[in-house]
Amino acid sequence: MAQLLDGKAYADQMLEEVRIAVEARKKDGLAPPCLAVVLVGEDPASQVYVKGKVAACAKTGIRSVERRPPSDISQSDLNLLIESLNSDPGVDGILVQLPLPKHLDSKAALHRISPAKDVDGFHPLNQGHLFEGLPGLRPCTPSACMRMLKSYGVDMKGQRALVLGRSEIVGKPMALMLLEEHATVTIAHSRTVDLPGVCREADILVAAIGKPGLVEGSWIKPGAVVVDVGINRVMDVPLGERIFVAEPGKLEKLREKGSVLCGDVRFGEAMQVAGAVTPVPGGVGPLTIAGLMMNTLEACENRGA
Ligand code: NAP
Repeated sequence: MAQLLDGKAYADQMLEEVRIAVEARKKDGLAPPCLAVVLVGEDPASQVYVKGKVAACAKTGIRSVERRPPSDISQSDLNLLIESLNSDPGVDGILVQLPLPKHLDSKAALHRISPAKDVDGFHPLNQGHLFEGLPGLRPCTPSACMRMLKSYGVDMKGQRALVLGRSEIVGKPMALMLLEEHATVTIAHSRTVDLPGVCREADILVAAIGKPGLVEGSWIKPGAVVVDVGINRVMDVPLGERIFVAEPGKLEKLREKGSVLCGDVRFGEAMQVAGAVTPVPGGVGPLTIAGLMMNTLEACENRGA
């Protein structure tokens, strides 16, 4: 049976670290860090994510401000809103919740954020710093995953690491961070030939594709460390019957409640083959929010605010 990599517990440790640092700032007469969250429109999933981020701010003592423009906001008005947050000396970090409504250009909006306040680490300047191995604000999901792997003593040096997915938010930065730790890194994607075979070579497998239960137990090298970044809501019972064969509890819940959350990896099967696995939920999700709090603190300290 694989070891469970408890993302939730490690995220709580990270949040506590941030809380202590914020408390110390207050004792020194300094203002707490401030995160500005921009939520365009009423997308229900985005509202849930923003709620979680604001709650984490409250838990750590970070001040949060929300800006909620309507879904029909124009690109130029969104840019103006971002500019106003850039020039607000009381704001340390800016987060534009994705996805944006279709008429808006997400990249253009993200590139407007001042690199010093870019707590998501998506600005090209911060991406460039990561590419060059320089310090800077880094994307929350992969950087928090790396922290957790290190805390569990996972030795990445010389190991074969496979990153499934090549997005700019998770896949590409994760691959760069694994490379920085001297892993031998492969990136796979939708055009990869023989995905199961490529997966079987990995000592460390990071799945970030958004396809429920795609990675089967038979694709996993015995003893591998598996990090499941995917968060998928499954409502289709026949799909559940295929992917939850080794997780009868989840299948039962799906039948009962009509939907369940799961990762890109078949967790029950992975637990029988891998050396260590993150669950979904309770794995990478909480780590991402904790990573955002860390970045907000870092942005504040870097600005000397
Ligand atoms: P994305 O931008 O949609 O990228 C998905 C990647 O997966 C693409 O590179 C795509 O390949 C690849 N892919 C899709 N289907 C594939 C298949 N059948 N075989 C191999 N590769 C395939 O997604 P993302 O933003 O990186 O997010 C990925 C997942 O992580 C989602 O479930 C998302 O909800 C989750 N996520 C979780 C957190 C968290 O906090 N836990 C944070 C961010 C994202 P191509 O490039 O060839 O199209």
